[in-house]
Amino acid sequence: MRLERLTTTCALALLFVAASIGSSWARATQHGKKRIGELERLGPKGRDALVLGLDAPGFDALPKNERIFAYYLSRAAIAGNDILYKQNHRHAFAIKQLLEQLYHHRAELPKPIATHVHDYLKYVWIHHGQYDHRTGEKFVPNALTFAELKRAAEIVKTRGGRFDFLAGATLEAKLETLKSAIFDKSVEPHLTVTAKGKDIIKESAVNLFDPGVTQALLDAVPRALRDQLNVRFALEGNTVVAQVFKIGGLYDRELRTVAYWLKKAAPLAQTSEQRKGIEALVRFFETGDEKLFREHSVHWLKSDNRIDYLAGFIEQLKDPRGVIGNWEGMVSFAADSRLIGRIAEQALYFEGKMPWPAVYKRSSIKKPVSNVVHVLVGTGDMGPVPWAGYNLPNYADIRRDVGSKNVILLNILQAGSEKDRQREISEFYLPPYRRLVMEHGKLFRRMLVYLHEVIGHASGQPDKSLKGDPRVLIGRSFSSLEECRADLIALYHFGDPKIRALINDTLPKSKRYTAEQWRKLELGMYIWFLQGHQIGLRTMRDGVVKGAHRRAEHAIYRFVTQNGGSKTKDYGAKVVKRGGKYFVAISDPAKVHRGLRDLLVALQVTKSTGNAKEANRLFDRFGTNYDPAVQKNVKLRAARLGMVKNRVVVYPRLVPVLKGGKLVDVKLAYDETLTDQQLRFSRLSGKTE
Ligand SMILES: [Zn+2]
Repeated sequence: MRLERLTTTCALALLFVAASIGSSWARATQHGKKRIGELERLGPKGRDALVLGLDAPGFDALPKNERIFAYYLSRAAIAGNDILYKQNHRHAFAIKQLLEQLYHHRAELPKPIATHVHDYLKYVWIHHGQYDHRTGEKFVPNALTFAELKRAAEIVKTRGGRFDFLAGATLEAKLETLKSAIFDKSVEPHLTVTAKGKDIIKESAVNLFDPGVTQALLDAVPRALRDQLNVRFALEGNTVVAQVFKIGGLYDRELRTVAYWLKKAAPLAQTSEQRKGIEALVRFFETGDEKLFREHSVHWLKSDNRIDYLAGFIEQLKDPRGVIGNWEGMVSFAADSRLIGRIAEQALYFEGKMPWPAVYKRSSIKKPVSNVVHVLVGTGDMGPVPWAGYNLPNYADIRRDVGSKNVILLNILQAGSEKDRQREISEFYLPPYRRLVMEHGKLFRRMLVYLHEVIGHASGQPDKSLKGDPRVLIGRSFSSLEECRADLIALYHFGDPKIRALINDTLPKSKRYTAEQWRKLELGMYIWFLQGHQIGLRTMRDGVVKGAHRRAEHAIYRFVTQNGGSKTKDYGAKVVKRGGKYFVAISDPAKVHRGLRDLLVALQVTKSTGNAKEANRLFDRFGTNYDPAVQKNVKLRAARLGMVKNRVVVYPRLVPVLKGGKLVDVKLAYDETLTDQQLRFSRLSGKTE
């Protein structure tokens, strides 16, 4: 599970996220050689992907043993990367190997063919195969043809190239097997099919099931196996056979290497809790026993260390049933968490200032675990297309009984293109707001996320007479209500003098905000949120807003710009049309604040009393439908502007410093392109040195 705001914004609103926050692009130009910020763009007019080099400030100041610990963990993450190719499609890994081999011989190929191979290879690296990592739709090469592929392979064969990894007697037969997988969009068009009335197992191209495995055949498998996180289902004759992901089982080579590096890391763990977690994880990879992964998850959850990691089968989004996990590897280190920590310490202060009735306020609040980190490396589900935050583990009972870790991935959240950001602000914001958003957009995003996570979800309490869990009582509108409540709390408190004081405490004297500046920033925060949501309408389809977080945002946008549906109230914000374009305009931030308050009080009372009818009424009225004219307008302007589909990252390189063959230190280098990094990952896979 991911921080929904971050997931949603990352996966769907994409560039707008990058647009609304600061970016490190400026630094890329300052430091010359450091590859940080925008590195390249892919696709027609550069709209398919924006490749960003990530910064990881502060790593060099960590103690040496922590840097070495991070290095071993990073090798475990890299060692698992190939698993996701194998999980995605039965030919995806072979396609990658084929293209990489052709790429290595690029100097011997006709130039246009070499360029076409390289272009397609980048897409295959980004998505771990030939299906879009987020949408699961199949894509085909922009330029490469089958004839060119054949020609390239023939040339490479005469230069000693080997194609043993492909099935088939002759080179021609080998390539023929891959032809439709690469070039025909109509063959197995969707990675994961979940539509009603379909055989979701048979129709999904994902390689978690052999071709021929159907829902009916799978239903005959014992329940315990069917519900397991780390199995694949093969077909032998007419029988479905479970293949467990483990050393000596499926993905043996990768998992053996993952375990090797984890064992090197374990003695350097920062606490015994963390060490026990890593040891349980190694035993999980050795035995395939999911109980050990659960055991690992509890240790991992309880350890709150500067260096942290993810390694294993975590998100279950590619299995149409949502059961089998995809490979994900990541290493991170704690960024400056002073601000988020201080906000958390003030939770009771903010609870006292909530606008709802005192009986629904808490008298004590357990400080939530919330970390801000920089990511050093991510593989599989974590890169090159990354998440911007997570809330794990996914086991519902562990979340209920032990808790969960809520982590914001700051360097990913803040990566973006300054150029795009400026162009988007000029296109979508009315002139009086542009400078505010340009200068403070980064602060607005950070504070919205911090306050949403740390103050928002932890606040409020049920009515004393309420029997049962509001989540269950409210049902279908609960998630939208809860996300909306958390957003409202963030917006409602942003202007509070305490927030200004907490931020000022972290700034040098010359940069501190005055009360007068802060009033302007309050206006900036509101316009950034409301206008940002309007821009996000461009990705919506079928006339309906989907997903809890977007419904939540939409409810705020509509409620405030439509005066809560009242003819007598004025909430100080409107959707306006100027020169054929739609915008949000704010006449009075104090009135917006009143609108936020009214909706927040209504939601808290609804939640505290478990009132399903009122929750449905509110979200059906404000959170569901959008104005198609506005949507069409922003979509058109976004297309004209060339807003990019995917944000793709290149992580820094962890460089081992060896002395007499012994690892004595680790440095960071920012010297790789997407191609350099992915080739290095391929080279290191399976290596124990
Ligand atoms: Zn939330």
